[in-house]
Amino acid sequence: MNFSTRCFWAVTSLLVALPASSAPAQINVFVDWGGFELRLGEAASAAGVASFSAAEVTTIKTNVFNDITSHYSGFSLNFTETNPGGDYETIVFGLTGTGYGLADSIDFRNQLKTGTGRVFTANFDDFIESADPRSVQIAELSTSLAGTASHELGHNLGLQHLDPYGIASFTATNSNGGYITGTAQNSHVMATGFTGLNEAQRETFRTFSDLSGVKLHMADGVSPNPISLTSEQAGSHSSAGTAQHLGLTTVAFASEYDEAEVLTGYYRGSDFYSVDLEAGDKILIEVLSSIIYDDDFDSYLRFYDTDGTTVLYENDDLEVNSTGVNNGGSYSMDAMLWNLPVKNAGRYFIEVDAFSSSDSGNYDLVVAVERLRAIPEPSAMLLLSGLAIGLGLRRRR
Ligand SMILES: [Zn+2]
Repeated sequence: MNFSTRCFWAVTSLLVALPASSAPAQINVFVDWGGFELRLGEAASAAGVASFSAAEVTTIKTNVFNDITSHYSGFSLNFTETNPGGDYETIVFGLTGTGYGLADSIDFRNQLKTGTGRVFTANFDDFIESADPRSVQIAELSTSLAGTASHELGHNLGLQHLDPYGIASFTATNSNGGYITGTAQNSHVMATGFTGLNEAQRETFRTFSDLSGVKLHMADGVSPNPISLTSEQAGSHSSAGTAQHLGLTTVAFASEYDEAEVLTGYYRGSDFYSVDLEAGDKILIEVLSSIIYDDDFDSYLRFYDTDGTTVLYENDDLEVNSTGVNNGGSYSMDAMLWNLPVKNAGRYFIEVDAFSSSDSGNYDLVVAVERLRAIPEPSAMLLLSGLAIGLGLRRRR
């Protein structure tokens, strides 16, 4: 091989390698209205109201499209009503089935690039009240359709029904790392029947919770400021002394959590991780094994004090009910600790363990931290108040 041939191959492989090594700039989402008008007619008929006119159908489509794009504003999703070709996520409104919608899977980190989320439009007669003015019927129907559409797409991008409880303002109140949310989870897109979501809440515009926001930044190709995947270190880290350190990445926006980390590993005996925290911080820790992997295990989480031996919080199985988390109910064998309050600055330790130490399997680890930041009071305030307040404590930037 002479020099010019070598050179040619080197340039060629560089050109080929570049697109493969960088994430797609944007994920296309095909909003497929095929069959929508037919199913809308079935819903109107079931609700005992007149069929929607062509103009009304157009209004509903516009409302739904605007709500979906609003839910995902700030993320790198390109919603289109024509087939974009190539790999794309789909939201389809013309299929029939049981309930309000169906996703392909909980595709955590968006590994699959061709998921379909189905909205069963014909079943949305539940949100059309014949006594309501037409404008209210259209508004409530539009909002509920859009909520289900974004919910099913959310599953295909990796979100779960536990995510709406991930609200940074709550703080763990028991040693199981749980808290009571009341009904707060139901103002979020990933809420569903068993989280207590009712008809009125489905007819109200919902948003993604703080935890959903973090996880969308972990979904491949979805965030302009992604939280990149960390791998478990090859060497053993089965004690606090050998713990793998988690550096944490700043969460750009769409969440009240300030920093986060996502790691993928394999359990074959306890894995220790360390994280540096400040007084007033709160930390959320989730193991995803049974919910996403075939080769899974029954995980167990411990959060240790800075001495590496005192267990502050621990959890075996994640509990979810209609009023809170890790306070009763059932969800999965995965372990999770929610918004643990940190009293003193220092290096803390996380242990991913199993209910049975002979178990083994794949897991992903999600960590999200809300920082309590000290922010100087504006000098104008000092002048106005006449008080020498040096610092104000505020959460978030
Ligand atoms: Zn769901």
